[in-house]
Amino acid sequence: MQQRNSSSSTSRRIAAALPLLTAVILAALTGCGSGDVPEFDSASAFTFLEQQVDIGFRYPGSPEHKQLQKYLTGRLQEFGANVSLQPFEAVLTTGDTLNLINIIGNYNRKASKRIMLAAHYDTRPFADRDPDPTNRDKPIAGANDGASGVAVLLEIARLLGESEPSVGVDIVLFDGEDYGREGTAIDYCLGSAHFARRLRGYKPYAAIVIDMIGDSDLEIMMEGYSRAASPVLLGELFDIAEQLGYGQFRRKKMEAIIDDHLPLIQAGINAVDLIDFDYDYWHTLEDTPDKCSPESLEAVGNVLLHYIWRQ
Ligand SMILES: [Zn+2]
Repeated sequence: MQQRNSSSSTSRRIAAALPLLTAVILAALTGCGSGDVPEFDSASAFTFLEQQVDIGFRYPGSPEHKQLQKYLTGRLQEFGANVSLQPFEAVLTTGDTLNLINIIGNYNRKASKRIMLAAHYDTRPFADRDPDPTNRDKPIAGANDGASGVAVLLEIARLLGESEPSVGVDIVLFDGEDYGREGTAIDYCLGSAHFARRLRGYKPYAAIVIDMIGDSDLEIMMEGYSRAASPVLLGELFDIAEQLGYGQFRRKKMEAIIDDHLPLIQAGINAVDLIDFDYDYWHTLEDTPDKCSPESLEAVGNVLLHYIWRQ
């Protein structure tokens, strides 16, 4: 220790400058003008996925759903977001009423140009796609379907707390996306539908919904409603993925999916959905963290960060 500390101040200065030089060279190599795009930490994001799953089954009405709301609110506050809650009641076609809450974290509130990033945090109360019929009334863990999108947004929130971009960013965590029974489209996307009814003049420059993006075998294609409504935004995101070398994004057409972007599009917002709908464990008891990977979260997270920092 003593010997190392006795080295000349010149060599210490060179050593101190090295990480900076490396960063400048890396920024030049990636070819995007802003060298200060924060680095997405895939391990940190994966921890956010696991922490949600560890809470338990997080469907509306369960104590774990409430516990998750506290966890998400706490995390966003910890990461410097201006947090607000949008509570509402939703009456289902079954006649049941759900008490739901959208959780919103704003960054750079003064900026008029705003990017909205959204994901649903609720998990499905029934594994109606499980191969074993005796499991089909049991709740799912929702590692990919629920936790993955939120995990990416929490990691982005953590980074936004450290360095603010020039645009405003609104992170919206929707409730009640996945309560519907198959064949009753109206009981899905309850949180985003409520949000879209209460815009009160809010019109982000772009809204990007992410859902089921944790699959370790991730393949994101160009979803139908997104292609029809917001082709420029969708193309930009796929361009960034290509430039960053993320092969998980494939420029292929996929069918239209009813997801949280649809109420936003219907309300006139420039919105897209990044989703991998080809997931063997969808709505089964097997939707667990071992089917997901940090690399998949990173691909999506880094594309979003680069999009934000390009504005
Ligand atoms: Zn689902």
